[in-house]
Amino acid sequence: MNLKKYITPAVLVTVLAFSTSCSNNTLTHRSQLSLVSDDEIMSSSATQYKQFISTNKVVPVKGGSKDAAIVNKVSSKIIAAVKQYYADLGKSSELDGYAWEINTVQSAEANAWCMPGGKIVVYTGILPITQNEASLAVVIGHEVTHALAKHGKERMSQGLIQQFGGQALSMALANKPKETQQLFGTAYGLGTQYGIMLPFSRNDEYEADKFGLAFTALAGYDPHEAINFWKRMDQFAGSQKPPEFLSTHPSNENRIAQLQSIMNETVTKYYRPQH
Ligand SMILES: [Zn+2]
Repeated sequence: MNLKKYITPAVLVTVLAFSTSCSNNTLTHRSQLSLVSDDEIMSSSATQYKQFISTNKVVPVKGGSKDAAIVNKVSSKIIAAVKQYYADLGKSSELDGYAWEINTVQSAEANAWCMPGGKIVVYTGILPITQNEASLAVVIGHEVTHALAKHGKERMSQGLIQQFGGQALSMALANKPKETQQLFGTAYGLGTQYGIMLPFSRNDEYEADKFGLAFTALAGYDPHEAINFWKRMDQFAGSQKPPEFLSTHPSNENRIAQLQSIMNETVTKYYRPQH
């Protein structure tokens, strides 16, 4: 068999891309496909965040909005916990490119997300389910982990392989700008309902739950509240039309089981109640 004829330039590019573009993530210690640079992904997310904020109803912090004040307070504590976590590892420099932003958006959607570079949005529609600061910390910790674990970048890289045969981002943008922009949107989970449950893989979700729980505890919130939150989320989802993605996603039951299996260790290692 002549192998040569199977090695087309596209395959070669893909193979080279794979072999040269993997990086090890500080948080998860997992090697991940990385065809997009941090600079590229962060500047794109900064642009998209700005656009989102300017076209959605942002709840002002000043002017007495209790919701926005709580979101800001809890997010700030989670960010401080993240900085502490990275400092303890001697890896503070990894957060250098982060320009943290926190906004509360008026919307009935039960949603929250954090784009690469630390761009947080919490929708008011999730607040009746979180109900308290500790649960909100669970949600924000989860979303911030997606950014730190670079799940969006990984999805973006996988998309470049699948849709563009491993083309560099700049080439994909130049050749197919619309499709590439869509890839960004999917990678960040924009425009999808229940952001906390979408659009990442099952493993991404478990990672986000695990490290989100650690950040919740480090921020001084009782991590046990995560169990109550996911039980409420389960009830909430049960009252809605079941989303089609549920089949490939961890069930709330499985999430709760995983959280329970790491609860004692998380409490011992990270929980320092604040009085
Ligand atoms: Zn998630």
